[in-house]
Formats: sequence, C-alpha cells, structure tokens
Amino acid sequence: MKTKPENKTDQIFLMALAQDILKTEHSKKTIELEFVDVRYGTCEEKTDFHCRITIPLWAKTRRTESYLYSYLIHEVTHVIVGGCHMHDRYFKAKETKLLKEYMGITQVHYSRAYVKKLIRNGQVIYDRGY
Ligand SMILES: [Zn+2]
Repeated sequence: MKTKPENKTDQIFLMALAQDILKTEHSKKTIELEFVDVRYGTCEEKTDFHCRITIPLWAKTRRTESYLYSYLIHEVTHVIVGGCHMHDRYFKAKETKLLKEYMGITQVHYSRAYVKKLIRNGQVIYDRGY
C-alpha cells in the first residue's frame, strides 16, 4: 500500500533526517523511504550504495513522534552496520549511540531486537509496556 498524500511531508522530513545521519556517519549510501501497511519495517539494500527503508504506518499513527524517530533510527542503523549485524551487540551499540545523538536518549531498554523503553534524562518518553 502506498503512502497517502498527507503523509508526504513527514516522509520527506524523515528521509532528510536519515540522509543527514548517514552523512554524519560517513556512509556514502543514499536511501529512499516509504510508509507501508506492514507489521515490521525493513531495510533493503538495493545496490551497494542505495537502500530502501520502509516504516510501518502503525509506527506513525499509533505511537508517539519519539517512537517514529526511534523506528527510523533503527532502520538507518541497519543501513550503517550492514546486513551481517542483525540486532547483535554491535548493532545495538550503534543504535544506542544514534538515539543519544539525535534524540537525546540517555537510557535504552531492549527486548531482544527492538527497543521497549526509551528514557531521556530520567523521563520515560516511550514505554511499550510489556
Ligand atoms: Zn531491525
């Protein structure tokens, strides 16, 4: 399912943010980003220098803005670390670093692959609740 027109601004903003993160991380990769009606987001390497990120619509509509940004950072982390580091310690270290740099997150709680709680200076800004 394709993005609705009213979501375009967000899509462009998030793409710019993602590209900015990649540049700062010295990645030469470019990305395209799409909101899709799926359960999980993806990061697909189309070529050595181009990736397609998808973010599920529910991450945008059913959660907080902070969660949406953290979801984007999760997929961008995949672009940076590459496919061989699926949610391992290296991946999480990079993701945690980016969450701190771009969202000021000071504490990240993980549930296997995904963040379940995000804390900024002692304040819980996202809590999955289970
Ligand atoms: Zn992932």
